[in-house]
Amino acid sequence: MTDFMEIRNPVDYSVITEVENTSKKKVGDMVAISSAAFEKYSKLAPSDRAMLLRRFAELVDKNKQELAELETKNMGKPISDSLDEISGVADVFYYYSGAIDKHFGTTVPVANGLDLTLYEPIGVVGAIVPWNFPALITSWKVGPALACGNTVIIKPAEWTPLTALRLEELALEAGYDQGVIQVATGLGEETGEALLNNPLVSKISFTGSTRVGKHIMRVTAGDLKRLSLELGGKSATVVFKDADLEKAAKAQPMSVFANCGQDCCARSRLLIEEDGYDEFKELLMKEVSNVRIGDPADSSTQVGPLVSEHHKARVSWFLENLESDVKAIYQSDLYSSKGAWFPITVLETDNNKTKVVQEEIFGPVVTLMKFKDEVDAIKMANSTVYGLSGSVWTKDIGKALRVAQGIKSGTLSVNSNSSVRTSTPFGGFKESGFGKELGMEAMETYSEKKNVYISTLG
Ligand code: NAP
Ligand code: MG
Repeated sequence: MTDFMEIRNPVDYSVITEVENTSKKKVGDMVAISSAAFEKYSKLAPSDRAMLLRRFAELVDKNKQELAELETKNMGKPISDSLDEISGVADVFYYYSGAIDKHFGTTVPVANGLDLTLYEPIGVVGAIVPWNFPALITSWKVGPALACGNTVIIKPAEWTPLTALRLEELALEAGYDQGVIQVATGLGEETGEALLNNPLVSKISFTGSTRVGKHIMRVTAGDLKRLSLELGGKSATVVFKDADLEKAAKAQPMSVFANCGQDCCARSRLLIEEDGYDEFKELLMKEVSNVRIGDPADSSTQVGPLVSEHHKARVSWFLENLESDVKAIYQSDLYSSKGAWFPITVLETDNNKTKVVQEEIFGPVVTLMKFKDEVDAIKMANSTVYGLSGSVWTKDIGKALRVAQGIKSGTLSVNSNSSVRTSTPFGGFKESGFGKELGMEAMETYSEKKNVYISTLG
C-alpha cells in the first residue's frame, strides 16, 4: 500500500493534491484517541453540545463558497449544486444543535415503582461515506452522532475526501476537542476495513453500494456493532395520463440527470401510462434537449462530468452492452473528450428484466417504459431489489395515495420529485438498507435506549 493517494479533478483528470492512505495501524491509533475523547465529550452538558454544533454550523455557513468550490473541483458537481449541498450541511448541523434537548425518554406506568427510559450515546461511530454527496452525507452522520454525544471517525470515499478534511479543521475552530471528529482518508478495503474490525468502534453508519453494505453487515456481525446502511436505489417515477403532463415533463430531466445521475434517489426508471405515452414523451424530449451540460465552475451549468475515470468506465459498460430490445432514443453531445464526461442518455424498452432497468447505473441514464393501469404501475415500480425513493404524478388524489402506499420504498413524493428534507426521516426498504437518517429519527439511530426501574416498595 502506498502512503499517499492522488486526488483528481474529474473535469480533466488533473491532480489537485495528495492525501494520506491511512494504514490499519494508524486507524487503530485514531480509534483509541476517539475512545478517550468520548469519555469527556459524552459527559458534556446538552447545552454545551448544542453550542458547539451551532458554532460548527455557523462556520460552515461562513466558509460556504470555499467549501462549495472545493466540492466542485473534487467531484465535478456544478457549483450551484455544491452551494446547495453546503447550505444543506449547515442546515443539518443547525437542526441537530436544536434537537439535543428535545430528544428525551419517557416514564412508563408500572406497578410499585417508577420506570424511566433514558437515551445514552453509543460510543465511537465509524461514518463511511460515498463520493456522490461527500459533504452532505458526512453531515447526515456527524450531526446526529455528535448531538447524541458520540465521537466520530469519518472515512470519506477514496476519490472525494477534500470537503471532509476541511470540515475536520472547521470542527476544531468551532471548539471541539481533538479526537471528537477525525477523518481517516484512504481505501475502503484498508482504512474502512480497519474501522469495521476495531472492537472499540461501537457503530458503523454506512452509505454506499448494496454490495459493500452486505459485506459490512457480515463483518460487523463479529461483535454485533450497531449498524445503519443507506444503500443503492433504482427509483421509479410513475406518470399517469391525467397528470399535469407539462409540469411533470419539466420536472423529470433533473430528477435523474442532476449530479450527473450519481444520486441514490435518481428517478432512473420513468414509467408512463400507455394512453398518454406519446404525448408525454414529446414534452419530455423537449425538456431533455434543454439541459445545460458544461463546466461545473459555471453557475448556469446543470450537469457536469461523472466523478472519475473508473466510474465512467462502469457507466459506459451498461451502454455498450444494451440488449437488443433496448433502444437509445437520445444522447447529448459530449462536452469534452478529456475527463469523465458522459452524455445524458434516454433509453426506451418494454423489457422489465433487462440490466438497465434492474441495476443501478449511477450515471445520467433514464429508461422509459409503458404501463397499462394502476396495478401494473405498482407491480413494475416494485420489481427491483431496491426500495429507496420514487414519485407519482396524477391529479387524482385517491390514486396518488393508493400508489404511494403500494410502492415499497422508504420515501415517495406526489407531483414532485423531492426525496430529502433535513427534518424528515430518510432511508431504504428492501436492499436499499435500514436505519433512518435525518429528522428526529436519526437521534434514535445514534443512541441506545436504556430502561431504569426504581422500586417504591418500602
Ligand atoms: P461504495 O463503493 O459502496 O463505497 C462507499 C464507501 O464505502 C466508500 O467510502 C468506500 O471507500 C467504502 N468502502 C468500500 N469497501 C469497503 C470495505 N470493504 N470496508 C469499509 N468501507 C468500504 O459506494 P460508492 O460507489 O462510493 O457510492 C455509490 C453508492 O452509494 C450507490 O450505490 C448509491 O446508491 C449509494 N448511495 C446511497 C445513498 C443512500 O442514502 N441510500 C446515498 C448516496 C449514495 P472507497 O471509496 O475507498 O472504495
Ligand atoms: Mg473502493
